[in-house]
Amino acid sequence: MSSILKEFSCCCDGQIQLYYIKENYVEETLDGLKKAASKLEAFFGVPTRPVEVMVYLVPTRRWYEQLVVDVLKVNIEVPSRESRIAQMQRKELVLLSPDAYPSHSIYTYEKTEYERLLCHELTHVYHEHFTSNLEMTPRWLEEGLAIYLSNQWRTDVEFRDPVQRAIQTRELPSLEEVENSILLSYIWGWTLVRFLDVTYGQDLIKAIVVQGSDQAVYEATRLEKEVFEARWHAWLKAERAIQS
Ligand SMILES: [Zn+2]
Repeated sequence: MSSILKEFSCCCDGQIQLYYIKENYVEETLDGLKKAASKLEAFFGVPTRPVEVMVYLVPTRRWYEQLVVDVLKVNIEVPSRESRIAQMQRKELVLLSPDAYPSHSIYTYEKTEYERLLCHELTHVYHEHFTSNLEMTPRWLEEGLAIYLSNQWRTDVEFRDPVQRAIQTRELPSLEEVENSILLSYIWGWTLVRFLDVTYGQDLIKAIVVQGSDQAVYEATRLEKEVFEARWHAWLKAERAIQS
């Protein structure tokens, strides 16, 4: 264990190891992660080997930056923006404790919102566990699945509003544009996952996740890219659940 982690206590519950300094929000975090894990196992199926995750619940932004850079080895800008509260890398997740939200972030704690955040991050861990080719997985599939399964697509205006506006003005992006843009992957990925879910069902999404390549979606649906794009666009224009 890294020497930075000496100050942390561990609350280990089966597949989840939660490290913390202050006890505030340990229970809420553990509950949220367990809830997310059972939701994800309902979707992906119970894995033959358990999906393990190490979570660091940190009490300040300074701790957050230190863990992300030194433990996760992810290069983020320091000082980090106040909108950053979670960073995932493989099986490790650094979380700014909601205890620190008032002074170290732009957020206020709200239970269901926090649970959606935990589910989003844990979806990435499950995705990585089940896929055979993460390198080739399009970002829209990774982020789209996390936003879709966590239900953030229903509640977060940053994902809903641009989609609703674009449908109204009939300015839909091409698949090529979504594939080549990080921002568009976040905004449109969940619509592609939802389209796949309501049209083909979750077994097909699982097959795409497992295969992981950028062609997996076309192979699984047996559609040429242009045809798949046209059907996704037609579905978006007709889908009242998104527009309303
Ligand atoms: Zn994500």
